[in-house]
Amino acid sequence: MNSRVTDQAPHCPCNSNQPYRTCCGRFLDCDEFAATAELLMRSRYTAYTLKREDYLLATWHRSTRPASLDLANASQHWLGLTVKRHEQSNPDQAIVEFIARHKINGRAFRLHEISRFVREQNRWFYVDGDILSD
Ligand SMILES: [Zn+2]
Repeated sequence: MNSRVTDQAPHCPCNSNQPYRTCCGRFLDCDEFAATAELLMRSRYTAYTLKREDYLLATWHRSTRPASLDLANASQHWLGLTVKRHEQSNPDQAIVEFIARHKINGRAFRLHEISRFVREQNRWFYVDGDILSD
């Protein structure tokens, strides 16, 4: 295997090993809806890396959605995502457990969270999450 990158399309920030265009770009730039909570979670991570506040708010359930995120002033530099678990308890509810790594002012952090998602009218929304300290 030649490990040099010959594919011109940049890989998606969500670590799927797919080009951004056919991975999270479909949801962030082309108004497609994520078919599963895991895909929505990945696209939201990508939105954080790209500071796409519009997308994050649009995919946040109205019951828990903040008024704004102030991402333009965020000093986080996102390093990578690992999805550990995706469980759908019924057609309209799911959890996704993930680890997202980031740096703030050169210091590395690890966010381990179990996020809750609900589906309404065929669209998944992020509700809230529990942060695990491990
Ligand atoms: Zn992606």
